[in-house]
Amino acid sequence: MKEKESRTPEWPYKSLSDPKYLKDKDSILSRSGNGWWWGWTAENCPLDWMKPQIIAQRKKEMEENKKDWEEQQSLQDKAREERDKRYKEEGIGSFIDCIVCGKETVMISMKTKYCSKNCGDKAYKQRLKEKQEQKREYMREKRKENPDIWRK
Ligand SMILES: [Zn+2]
Repeated sequence: MKEKESRTPEWPYKSLSDPKYLKDKDSILSRSGNGWWWGWTAENCPLDWMKPQIIAQRKKEMEENKKDWEEQQSLQDKAREERDKRYKEEGIGSFIDCIVCGKETVMISMKTKYCSKNCGDKAYKQRLKEKQEQKREYMREKRKENPDIWRK
């Protein structure tokens, strides 16, 4: 006699660390949430008419976060400026010149280079730009050396 077939489907993975399981799990979670989080994103929303609203909402949130961040940063920079002024008047601490704008600022540690977060960010963006340019240059050289490798 034929063995009775099980009604419950067999679990198709070897274990919880099976790469196939992890891949499928990630894909399900990114589409459907995980039980405590649920929400449409522009990527997983099945309703096309809703996508522009989701994108606009996300953009709005990002702009608000950015505004909050900039406000906080400007408060910090202001406090720092006031401290620099007070230290200067009272003759406390040693000063260095900001390597971006040249303004004098209290040397907090050996790593102090900038008078404000704003100047630090400017320097960071400049370094990033240089790095990206170096990378582009590197890729150009590689392509010149071996043009076939990069063709697809
Ligand atoms: Zn500066």
